[in-house]
Amino acid sequence: MAEKGTQQLHVYNTLSRKKEPFEPLNPPHVGMYVCGPTVYGDAHLGHAKSYVSFDVVLRYLRYLGYKVRYVQNITDVGHLVDDAEEGEDKLSKQARIEKVQPMEIAEKYTYTYFRDMDALNVLRPDIAPRATGHIPEQIAMVKKLIENGHAYEVNGNVYFDVSSDEEYGKLSGRKTEDAESGTRVETASDKKSPEDFALWKKAEDKHIMKWDSPWGVGYPGWHIECSAMSTKYLGESFDIHGGGLENQFPHHECEIAQAECAHDKNFVKYWLHNNMVTLEGQKMGKSLGNAINLHEFFTGDHKLLTRAWPPEVIRFFLLQSHYRSTTDFSEEALSGAESGLKNLHSMIQTIEQTEPGDGKEFDLKSFKEAFESSMNDDFNSAQAIAILFEKLKEIRKRINDGNSPSNLDEIKVFLHSVVEEVLGIWPKEEAGRDEQLTSDLIEMLIEIRKDARANKNFELSDKIRDDLNELGVQLMDGKDGTSFEIDK
Ligand SMILES: [Zn+2]
Repeated sequence: MAEKGTQQLHVYNTLSRKKEPFEPLNPPHVGMYVCGPTVYGDAHLGHAKSYVSFDVVLRYLRYLGYKVRYVQNITDVGHLVDDAEEGEDKLSKQARIEKVQPMEIAEKYTYTYFRDMDALNVLRPDIAPRATGHIPEQIAMVKKLIENGHAYEVNGNVYFDVSSDEEYGKLSGRKTEDAESGTRVETASDKKSPEDFALWKKAEDKHIMKWDSPWGVGYPGWHIECSAMSTKYLGESFDIHGGGLENQFPHHECEIAQAECAHDKNFVKYWLHNNMVTLEGQKMGKSLGNAINLHEFFTGDHKLLTRAWPPEVIRFFLLQSHYRSTTDFSEEALSGAESGLKNLHSMIQTIEQTEPGDGKEFDLKSFKEAFESSMNDDFNSAQAIAILFEKLKEIRKRINDGNSPSNLDEIKVFLHSVVEEVLGIWPKEEAGRDEQLTSDLIEMLIEIRKDARANKNFELSDKIRDDLNELGVQLMDGKDGTSFEIDK
């Protein structure tokens, strides 16, 4: 399928712990699911790392010609505080703090999530299903698991029976919470075994988010939504499931168990996990006092920040490390990324503003191959960016030497496809384009005025001058023609 490079795309599959050739189940279609945010607070750097990483995965697959359906859920119920089996729902807790309804919390933070991802130039998923919008699908899957003997009901709670699934643990190599997190107190006394996990939970009277079910009034466990919604939109087996490394266990392990035991089919072919971010070498967290959310980075409005950091700098910085490596944020590192990005943009602008020369061709083929083979190596954006710098420097040198490559137009097309479409770091040109359009329109009016004067139609030529003047545009007639100035 659409092999543009010299080498086939290989992806690191957590399931096999090795890089595998990427062969979708039903080419050219690719089904891709990435666990979305739990919308109870603003998105932070960890979200940026995950969603920018998978954004480039998505964009590169599309570049290769695959028809990708990208599904990313919105968790608005069932995710309990501390990712635990017991305790308060994250949204309900935030609703209590902000004194609003849980659904108001969901609306507010779904909005800020997409606002911040849009700023980072992360493409929107094709489908962004909400957990609360898919309660019947989740109930149906739980029912099926009970029928298949993989789940049991006790006092209005339904648990997945881990002992019924021989393959449980195949993704993470784990079946239970590690001893390191052993401080967690097991309170769900009605489970048959401590590693069993909740599919459906009985709601107490004061619980706001609750629904009728065959087991009484309750709400879904956190993991079931992803199995139910990915299956609904991508089928019982699909190609790529992504998420943060921290979700491998228990969340993704549970997703696999639920889906495979419900359908008796392999759930996902390739599991991709992005690594985490640290802030100046430290783990980030609200309790550590160093949690800075994305919006605070964009505005500079946080006591630990000396200035605002544009979203494109954060995106570029993230892409300079591999998605499976940790990324350490600091203002110093961001500042380095900012100069790198400026340099990249200035090289692109030089190329964009230059016409092809009659000198010899630039070797675009090997440029393309080098870029693609980096991306084909498990989406190595860091290496792809290094190649961009290397090649663009060569091209700029040729331009500066008055030796512009004859195939510069093809180079421009290629640059758009990789820098704009794959990496999503094209120089911003909104303002520039508007300015260009304005000046082109004024030049056009100057030409019309010139014709009018040549035809002795002074009424029209004066009208053009006066009307432009009213708009704050001054025309100056000189011996080299007419120039203009726009009032600031
Ligand atoms: Zn998930």
